[in-house]
Amino acid sequence: MMIDKLSHLYNLALPDLEELLRSWGQPAYRARQVYRQLYVNLAASPAAMTDLPAALRARLAAETRIGALELVRLQTADDGMTRKALFRLPGGEVVETVLMVYPDRATVCVSTQAGCAMDCVFCATGRLGLLRNLSAGEIVEQVLWAARELRVLSSEFSVLSLATPATQNSKLKTQNLTNVVFMGMGEPFANYDRWWRSVERLHDPQGFNLGARSITVSTVGLVPGIRRLAGEALPINLAISLHAPDDQLRSEMMPINRRYPIAELLDATREYIAETSRRVSFEYVLLQGKNDAPEQAELLAELLRGGGRKGSPLGGDRKGSPLLCHVNLIPWNPVPGAPLGRSERARVLRFQQVLQERGIACTVRVERGVAIAAACGQLAGVPSGEQTIVLE
Ligand code: SAH
Repeated sequence: MMIDKLSHLYNLALPDLEELLRSWGQPAYRARQVYRQLYVNLAASPAAMTDLPAALRARLAAETRIGALELVRLQTADDGMTRKALFRLPGGEVVETVLMVYPDRATVCVSTQAGCAMDCVFCATGRLGLLRNLSAGEIVEQVLWAARELRVLSSEFSVLSLATPATQNSKLKTQNLTNVVFMGMGEPFANYDRWWRSVERLHDPQGFNLGARSITVSTVGLVPGIRRLAGEALPINLAISLHAPDDQLRSEMMPINRRYPIAELLDATREYIAETSRRVSFEYVLLQGKNDAPEQAELLAELLRGGGRKGSPLGGDRKGSPLLCHVNLIPWNPVPGAPLGRSERARVLRFQQVLQERGIACTVRVERGVAIAAACGQLAGVPSGEQTIVLE
């Protein structure tokens, strides 16, 4: 392992940290202490690790770095319950992270790449192209930022009392970070190894202890990633961006469809469901007059019922039950300059109704942060909105 990687503590799993502290002549339990400080107490500096000897704190301060992200801007909306952070990476690129607080839960939407290579026509991030992959530590750090942010919120509003998942069983009425969704900038499966290491880190019961079912990844539809996820031991949730019921339209909206067309994507999804017995979500962004007609909803229902193929027990059958799935409709959030329109409410509800009548479970995604360009597909690191706290 390279020295500069070693120095970023969020890039180290517990065994790596043990190795580092052993090389410093420290007893084995010290690594676990540091690890708890990082992921349970959310310590942002060695000085905050008050249960460590002063000499060890000094050495950590001299030879390691806890985080790599520099917070350059914080924007809030929805009475402070939606909070978008803009972080600068060591190389100068920026990424965004969005925390959404609800009465009974709190979700953080995390980026896995700076920019994105997928170039979907309706998404702001795609305009940037791919700038670079984030490291596991840079992905994990966004989640820890959100957990700390909740802690600050909880001290401002007494109803919210913050804890990490590790302390969820506390008798206090707590507001925890309950969900992590990999739906920020980038395509997680295009940065699979680093992204997966971040999942394992967040899940680690000795550390942050986030349940696998509290974690959701969204993919543009990279078939090899879906196949790989099916074989992983941690049962996280999978969401797939479908967005169109036929190849012609999907290719027009999402270039990746030329590489992995709908039939191949659905085959991989059927295999995933057969292997994991887990329900998959399909995301469907609604664009006025483009993919939101009732006939297109019918086609979509047909597709998810296995129309046109023989069918399999879990994979949907023309006459039988649909694919073990759920459709999440996302009314399109405006992206500057995109020659597209947001579906009217009535069309959204009609689309939903057509699917439901055909036995397909379907919800409409609740919106957060549109005023500060923090909603789905709006993350591009560009300033907007009024509630802005500039930190530099
Ligand atoms: N790269 C991943 C994560 C993207 S963001 C993926 O493609 O799934 C999460 C969801 O928001 C995706 O379904 C994405 O297609 C959708 N999305 C992108 N731009 C949008 C916009 N402007 N309005 C609404 N949803 C959008």
